[in-house]
Amino acid sequence: MKCKVCDKRVKEGKAYCEHHAKAYENVVDKYDSWNKALGVTWKVYLDEIIKNPLTGSWAKEVAQQLLEENSISGINSN
Ligand SMILES: [Zn+2]
Repeated sequence: MKCKVCDKRVKEGKAYCEHHAKAYENVVDKYDSWNKALGVTWKVYLDEIIKNPLTGSWAKEVAQQLLEENSISGINSN
């Protein structure tokens, strides 16, 4: 298995390496409050993360990857 973002080897069943897994958690976590407060969609939210100069590079890379994934396959709704 490889990290979806940086191609680093990761443990079986993991989508991200340590750094990107943490960033992914933060991104997903914050979306909840953004969605509640501003009603932004997932795609808009990811766009904002990528554009925001204050976003850390790990989170940006994860957001970029999620955006690409989303534009190919749509959001997993399970
Ligand atoms: Zn990674």
